[in-house]
Amino acid sequence: MPDDPIVPIDDPRLREPSAAILDIDDDIRALADYMFQVMDRENGAGLAAIQIGVPKRMIVVDVPDRSGRRHRMALINPEILTASATTETNLEGCLSMPGYDLPVERPASVTVRFRDLGGATQELTADGMLAVCLQHEIDHVNGKVFSDRVSRLRREKAKAWFAKVRRAA
Ligand SMILES: [Zn+2]
Repeated sequence: MPDDPIVPIDDPRLREPSAAILDIDDDIRALADYMFQVMDRENGAGLAAIQIGVPKRMIVVDVPDRSGRRHRMALINPEILTASATTETNLEGCLSMPGYDLPVERPASVTVRFRDLGGATQELTADGMLAVCLQHEIDHVNGKVFSDRVSRLRREKAKAWFAKVRRAA
């Protein structure tokens, strides 16, 4: 249960888009609870279901927006509706490659549509670290990882570092 390992960044499961969630039932709510537990255990700001090996379109986040307001929530079938033309580069980490941050350029704010755990459709406009985190986790849902969004040189360096860490483990 909550001590299951996180799927590592070089695992092919992280390259596949996850499946839409049709029924928001007790199983999905239990999965959300479990994802919060894993995220908290790992001191993460966000987690996608595929990172614990469940290929369903759900993410959890626990992160502040630009004003400092904390957002702790589960988002089901999240999608980005609009993204600002203005971009920002922030250092991002990933629980699938702990200990190695990468500078990633992304839109500074996004509007996201999702369903909540009660089944209601919601829209959220996010900025600051909340915007970063939502985009990072929605990438996971779509089979992308943050190292796809940096230069080839940075990606190769990260890959070499991770291979070394994995060999040492
Ligand atoms: Zn990640």
